[in-house]
Amino acid sequence: MKIPELYEHKKPVFSLEIFPPKKKGNIESIYDTVEQLAHCNPDFISVTYGAGGNLADNSTCEIASRIKKQYGIESVAHLTCVNSSKEDVEEMIGRLAEADIENVLALRGDISEDGEMKHDFHHANELAIEVQRKCRDNLEILGACYPEGHYESKSLDEDIQNLKYKIGAGVKVLITQLFFDNQCFYEFVGKARMMGIKVPVSAGIMPIVNSRQIERTVALSGASLPHDFTKMISLYENNPEKLFEAGIQYAVDQIRDLIINGVDGIHLYTMNNPKVALKVYEKIEDLL
Ligand code: FAD
Repeated sequence: MKIPELYEHKKPVFSLEIFPPKKKGNIESIYDTVEQLAHCNPDFISVTYGAGGNLADNSTCEIASRIKKQYGIESVAHLTCVNSSKEDVEEMIGRLAEADIENVLALRGDISEDGEMKHDFHHANELAIEVQRKCRDNLEILGACYPEGHYESKSLDEDIQNLKYKIGAGVKVLITQLFFDNQCFYEFVGKARMMGIKVPVSAGIMPIVNSRQIERTVALSGASLPHDFTKMISLYENNPEKLFEAGIQYAVDQIRDLIINGVDGIHLYTMNNPKVALKVYEKIEDLL
């Protein structure tokens, strides 16, 4: 199924994100995760793609294809372009289409620290144009957006202005970067609508349930940390069980508030942890 059609018929659309196993040759382990995540009744599952654009690593395509064929769940394959040549990208788009994948999340990817890039693609909108050129009728395109602005943009207004290039290039659904302050999301969506962006926006939510995530994700995300969130961390960072419960509850409260306020979709960053996803799902199921 084409993902944009889902948003025409259902509100909120509920989706999950997973990443391919990091260890090479360990791809089968992800299917245990998918099998458990299936109990969350997701409308689709998206599979991330390594920024390196290494064609030998076909795992995103393989996993997205199997989610669809074996589990009967719609899938989205992420694809980045900044570290790939035009030929690499063409080949990957061809592979996605051959695997009957109907939806792609078109991303630029992060530029490596040494600033090296292949120079065929500079931004996600150029990838979206390439997907349109090669597969206009077969692949629907989703894109990323940033409620607090992408870190390279001087302002949120500038970032939203740039976001319009993606929409112009055929992106029909947006998924946000994770955030912990719903107010940032509401202000972002309000601004985007005022600036003419009409496509559905799914809110990216990541439950923070252990101290490793606090160090890595929270510290690196650049997301605003509201008082309730920092209070939760300072109360429970040395108490793993309490932090787990509180982190789930924080995400649940965020999601319930978003749904009550009419969000188009909820995209849960599962970190390949079905236990967390299922706990969240149990507490929001009545609103989906
Ligand atoms: P762009 O849309 O190209 O934006 C990057 C910057 O350039 C922004 O500051 C923007 O304002 C500006 N810009 C955009 N278009 C133009 C233009 N035409 N002219 C001038 N400036 C412009 N990374 C991975 O490696 N693999 C993944 O699977 C992955 N999945 C993700 C999923 C989601 C939902 C999100 C939110 C991010 C994901 N990322 C992933 C991270 C992403 O690759 C990085 O955030 C990257 O830095 C930006 O990608 P983008 O597609 O948003 O880039």
